[in-house]
Amino acid sequence: MIYLDNNATTSLDARVAAVLAKAWESGPNNASSQHQFGRRARAALENALDRIGQCLGSDLTRVDAARLIVTSGGTEANNLAIAGLGPEDGTILVSSIEHPSVLAAAGMMERRGHLVLQIDVDSSGTIRLDHLDYLIAETIRLGKPAKLVSIMSANNETGVIQPIAEASAICRKNDVALHVDATQSIGKLPINFSDWGVSSVTFTPHKFHGPAGVGFLWLAPGVSVRPVIFGGEQQLGTRPGTEPVALVVAAAEATALAVEEREASVAKMARLRNELENGLLERHPSLMIHGRSAQRLPSTTCLSLPGTNRQTVLMALDLAGVACSSGSACSSGSSPPSHVLTAMGVEKEALDSALRFGVSKFSTDEEIARAIEVISRKLQAGSRFAHVEN
Ligand code: PLP
Repeated sequence: MIYLDNNATTSLDARVAAVLAKAWESGPNNASSQHQFGRRARAALENALDRIGQCLGSDLTRVDAARLIVTSGGTEANNLAIAGLGPEDGTILVSSIEHPSVLAAAGMMERRGHLVLQIDVDSSGTIRLDHLDYLIAETIRLGKPAKLVSIMSANNETGVIQPIAEASAICRKNDVALHVDATQSIGKLPINFSDWGVSSVTFTPHKFHGPAGVGFLWLAPGVSVRPVIFGGEQQLGTRPGTEPVALVVAAAEATALAVEEREASVAKMARLRNELENGLLERHPSLMIHGRSAQRLPSTTCLSLPGTNRQTVLMALDLAGVACSSGSACSSGSSPPSHVLTAMGVEKEALDSALRFGVSKFSTDEEIARAIEVISRKLQAGSRFAHVEN
C-alpha cells in the first residue's frame, strides 16, 4: 500500500514509538497521586509540556507563562476553545473552511443563543481579511460585538495557508480573541505561537508522526477557558481527567523531531507533492488543482478530474494499493461534498470528483512514481466509466 492520506493521520515515527513504549512501561503514571509514583509522573508530564512549549516558542516555566491544556485530540481542543473562550454571550466569527470540530462547536454555541457568522474565503481558498474586518464592524453596529474569531492556520483539504498574523492584528485592534487551529501546520510551517499574538492554538501529534489520542490547546499568557467537561481538579479544573502522561511524553518527542527536521522535511515533501501534481497534470491536462494559486502546505494536493466520481476513484485506488481521501471529513468514510471547495465556489463537476492526497516526510520517490501511474490509470478508467454511464 502507498499511504497518501497523511492529512488524516500519520504513521508513528519509530523513534517516537520507542519513547512511548518506555513511558508506558515506566508507570503507574497518575500525575495527581501524592506518592512517589505520582510525583515521578508529574515531573515527566511537566518536563514534556515544557519541552513542547519550548519547541513552539513558549517558555512555560515563567510565572506569567502561556499554558498547554492536554486534551484527547484536535477535536476536543477546538471544542474547548470555541465553547470556553470569550464572554458567555459574545458573537463568534468562524471561517467558512474550518474543520468540522470548529464548525459544529460553533453550531452548538448558536443553538445556545450566540450569534455565529462565517468569514468568506476567495476562490483560492484564502480567508478574506476585508470580510473579517467588515463582520467585526457590523457586529459592533448591531450591538452584538464579536468576541471570538476562529481561523485555521492551514486548511486540511487544500493545504492553503491562512494569513494568521494579519488576522491577529485585526482581532487585537478590535479586542477580539483569536483561536487558531494549527492541527495541519506543525512540522510544515515555521511556528512560534507567541509571535502570532493570538489567544489560543490547537494541535495534535498524530498529524506529525506522534501518537493519536492526545492533543493540546495552547493558551496565551493571561487567557483562560471555561471547562466543557467536569469532574476533577486536574489541569486546574479546566480539563479534568487523569492526564495521559506517556502520550504527552511521546508528543514532546514528536514535536521536537517535527521542529528539528522541518526544513529538510518541507523540501522533501514539496518535491514529492510537486512531482505527483506535475506527473498527473502531464497525463491529464484538464486536471484541476484547488488552491494552487495560493501559498499551500508542502504536503497537500486537492485535485479534481471533472467527469470522474470521487468515491468510485477512491475505492478503485484503494483496491490498487493507493490510500487517499475524499470529502470534508478527515475520516476516510463516505462523505458529503466538501464544504471547503463549496466555499471556494468550485463547480459541481469538480466538487464531485475532488480527491485529497497528502505526502509525509517518510514518503519515497518510488512510491510517488508508482502512485502517479496507478492514479492516472484509475482517473482514466473513471472518466471512461462516467462517459458510458452518461
Ligand atoms: N482540525 C484540523 C484542521 C484537522 O485536520 C483535524 C483532523 O482530524 C482536526 C482538527 C481534528 O483532530 P483529531 O482527529 O485529533 O480530533
